[in-house]
Amino acid sequence: SAPLAQADPQVARSIDRELTRQQSQIELIASENIVSRAVLQAQGSVFTNKYAEGYPGKRYYGGCEQADVVEALAIERLCQLFGARFANVQPHSGAQANTAVMLALVKPGDTVLGMALSAGGHLTHGARPALSGKWFNAVQYGVREADSRIDYDEVERLAREHRPRLIIAGFSAYPRTIDWARFRAIADEVGALLMVDMAHVAGLVAAGVYPSPVPHAHVTTSTTHKTLRGPRGGVILTNDEEIAKKINSAVFPGAQGGPLMHVIAAKAVAFGEALQPAFQDYARQVVANAQALGEVLREGGLDLVTGGTDNHLLLVDLRPLGLKGNQTEVALERAGITCNKNGIPFDTEKPTITSGIRVGTAAITSRGLKEDDCREVGRLILDVLQALRRDPAGDPRVEMLVREQVQTLMSRFPIYPAL
Ligand code: PLP
Repeated sequence: SAPLAQADPQVARSIDRELTRQQSQIELIASENIVSRAVLQAQGSVFTNKYAEGYPGKRYYGGCEQADVVEALAIERLCQLFGARFANVQPHSGAQANTAVMLALVKPGDTVLGMALSAGGHLTHGARPALSGKWFNAVQYGVREADSRIDYDEVERLAREHRPRLIIAGFSAYPRTIDWARFRAIADEVGALLMVDMAHVAGLVAAGVYPSPVPHAHVTTSTTHKTLRGPRGGVILTNDEEIAKKINSAVFPGAQGGPLMHVIAAKAVAFGEALQPAFQDYARQVVANAQALGEVLREGGLDLVTGGTDNHLLLVDLRPLGLKGNQTEVALERAGITCNKNGIPFDTEKPTITSGIRVGTAAITSRGLKEDDCREVGRLILDVLQALRRDPAGDPRVEMLVREQVQTLMSRFPIYPAL
């Protein structure tokens, strides 16, 4: 059959343009990364055609011999990567992984205690608009007003008061390490199970540059596409055999049908990459880059929530420059720098406006940027923000100039040259 460019020129054009966008801009979205060619190739493979309901060796379809091989590889590599006894690699996404854990471990109406979205938690941790907030009695903890850090005493107080069945730790926008052992102690004290969602920091955990929740949590979930640098998807880990059985039933047939075998093949490739020593250098560089970028932004007059970062992300408080998250996001995008607006703790602006942006260094580090390059990225961000401060509509001349510098910088770090 015809190649994509002939079969569907409209979609082919869009893919080409997306490639050009990714090649020429600076990707600072903290939840994104740039996968290897090998991961792309596995995901674009003929496994896309295969139904494989069930698990390796216990399928509901014929022809699963090779599906079994790649899924078993993915499970084995993932367990090795995180020192876990059991893994499920079938969740289609992070949200699916968290939903499956809830299906396995709690019942509608049970109390769950998770981090508020406004404090850096995720929708699936009990936020009102999500299933986790609608089907459960979701109690939410936040961060301390004084230093924007998790207040473990408050978590403990809420746990004692509400006696949750499940406590959820983990975040989408929290730049510091988390005391997983303290969370487990709180869970044990009130007879709750502890689920850690390590989606954002999974790659850092795998490389040993961020504390691992796996020995502490009853169950750990993750996405595979953030710092872990795999295809878009989810995984679930546990050391408890009984919980593992419940999780497997909750993923399939509980919450999902056929696994995405092409994505599982790509997960196996990514986990294999993360097991290589080079991945440790990568993860260390991600954190060093975030810290270097943060220093420049602070010197430029911006505040960083908690004052800095221990991981790959910075939550930038724009208020000292009198800017809003929404205008900043679009101005930076015009200049070739992609990030997202993000509420900061105790933000008085609406979620569609916000007082902050969230930036992360997982993707630019995959391209090879080091601390000095990240300092340059910081200066380019500041140029755009200073212009925005002078004129809320932005300065097209400054933005164009920055865009040119962005292209020059990123041309030194090419991606997917032969795609
Ligand atoms: N958990 C956390 C902590 C996240 O940050 C995210 C995504 O941003 C998810 C879960 C959901 O993952 P997905 O978008 O793959 O459903």
